[in-house]
Amino acid sequence: MAINTNKRVAVKWIRDKAKSAYEKESQCCICGTTHELELHHLHSINGLLESWSKKLNIDITSDSAVLAIRDRFIEEHHAEIYELVYTLCNKHHVQLHGIYGKSPLPSSVPKQKRWIELQQLKHSNPSLVDKPNYSSHFSQFLGELSGTKKI
Ligand SMILES: [Zn+2]
Ligand SMILES: [Zn+2]
Repeated sequence: MAINTNKRVAVKWIRDKAKSAYEKESQCCICGTTHELELHHLHSINGLLESWSKKLNIDITSDSAVLAIRDRFIEEHHAEIYELVYTLCNKHHVQLHGIYGKSPLPSSVPKQKRWIELQQLKHSNPSLVDKPNYSSHFSQFLGELSGTKKI
């Protein structure tokens, strides 16, 4: 196989294999839509492959090199590839990557989780969005100012 100068193409061999084994959920974990579902990895496969290959001094510069280490890589990153994943609709997936970048850094993993949880909360309880906490404090404050009692 030819030398591959584009790492994004090499990482595709791992994505394809991982995808074929992973069952997506039937709905977006945030809004519940069943359309245009995509799989989000908290740890970008690209980033995992880069740091792993660097650490162990493994060649990933060609398709054949990536194919040679593919099974081992997937085995050693089972949790990151199969468990630390979320099924999202295209809209929420794009939104998440808009915030955390195309290949989110490992340090952003807890933030990504919190973001997803917050969106879930907002979706299941829209009143949290319409009436943020400060507004009730503010009207209470106004009530006190004008001397009216809040019921
Ligand atoms: Zn969604
Ligand atoms: Zn993603």
